[in-house]
Amino acid sequence: MKTKFVCILFVLFSVFVQAQKTYLHCGKMVDVKNGVVLNSKTIIVSGNTIEAIKDGFIIPDDKASKIIDLKDKTVLPGLIDMHVHIEGETSADNYLKPFTLNEADVAFNSVVFAEKTLMAGFTTVRDLGGSGVNVALRNAINSGKITGPRIFTAEKALASTGGHADPTNGRKRDLMGNPGPKEGVLNGIEDARKAVRQRYKNGADWIKITATGGVLSVAKNSKNPQFTEEEIQAIVATAKDYDMQVAAHAHGDEGMQRAIRAGVKTIEHGTLMSSETMALMNEKEAYLVPTISAGKYVADKAKVDGYYPSIIVPKALEIGSQIQNMFSRAYKKGVGIAFGTDAGVFPHGENGKEFGYMVEAGMPPIEAIQSATITNAKLLGEAKNLGQLEANFIADIIAVDDDPIKNIKTLEYVVFVMKSGVIEKY
Ligand SMILES: [Zn+2]
Repeated sequence: MKTKFVCILFVLFSVFVQAQKTYLHCGKMVDVKNGVVLNSKTIIVSGNTIEAIKDGFIIPDDKASKIIDLKDKTVLPGLIDMHVHIEGETSADNYLKPFTLNEADVAFNSVVFAEKTLMAGFTTVRDLGGSGVNVALRNAINSGKITGPRIFTAEKALASTGGHADPTNGRKRDLMGNPGPKEGVLNGIEDARKAVRQRYKNGADWIKITATGGVLSVAKNSKNPQFTEEEIQAIVATAKDYDMQVAAHAHGDEGMQRAIRAGVKTIEHGTLMSSETMALMNEKEAYLVPTISAGKYVADKAKVDGYYPSIIVPKALEIGSQIQNMFSRAYKKGVGIAFGTDAGVFPHGENGKEFGYMVEAGMPPIEAIQSATITNAKLLGEAKNLGQLEANFIADIIAVDDDPIKNIKTLEYVVFVMKSGVIEKY
């Protein structure tokens, strides 16, 4: 008897839970798959997924479901940024932080950056390098303990000794130590395998390498190749064993070519990419993650006296100013573009500015939006779950005031955010 009563309660409870749906009345809705903006749609969200999309503004026939009025908004899939550093953010004292911040400080800071990112409409990000706090952050977000975007993380970026992601670059000798594969510094094929396996052990989803010098490391060259092709081949092959893909930071052309030939999936920045390399990108189906925002930001800040150490200033001025032009050429050459910003190099939450820079460089607004949704979802292996407003997709949904096809800047001011069916901003 008692069991029967519990059963009835359970059935009633289930009916009640199932009935609680959200009906989003969308004045306009961007269909990223077909590249068109549709009028007057209702997205019905049930649990964490999109149950259906219907014409017109549908009124639920039960009392439990609720309506969200977005009739004067344009609704899009949640945005995806393929290049962020969620653990940190630019500041004039950034180079002191390794000596002043504990891991717990980094963790608390990253919670704030994650929330800013989500509130800017980015429901998914790929984190391309931090200390390992990014793995804990991903787990805390996934388990619902804190608010933030879905994170795919590279944990710690890989470098060769003295390379762009060598954590002790530029230090005095007794503070240099001798970081090895465990800390993401590798030399030779055995080290390469070990460094990738360590990332797997530490919980990484992707592997990030610094194939050439970089702007913000305390070292003089931003362009030199920093791995042999054999080392990158070993990294890519080992990553594949663990079902991971490789992203390569690269400004110089030679390092970029080695990385593409060795099979990396995305080239980050790509600043000095030659026409030959663009053709190679197309042949190998590698994608460019442009990070124009970061280029512009570092070029501006390099003009502020003392903001960066002096060794960085000429690099920031030279590299920063060239990224947008290279992007323009690569786009015209048909190189696959995966939206990514390098947020952290500039303040988190300003990721949406990248859209304006892409459009300014000649990419049509709808293609910029597609690169941040359907393209990135595919690269993350989530083509059937993320990046589209379609039945059975995860309900990651945002809204802006204007039609972004007519006013791309509206994507800098996201007014509504739903992630996995939960309204995070309204
Ligand atoms: Zn970066």
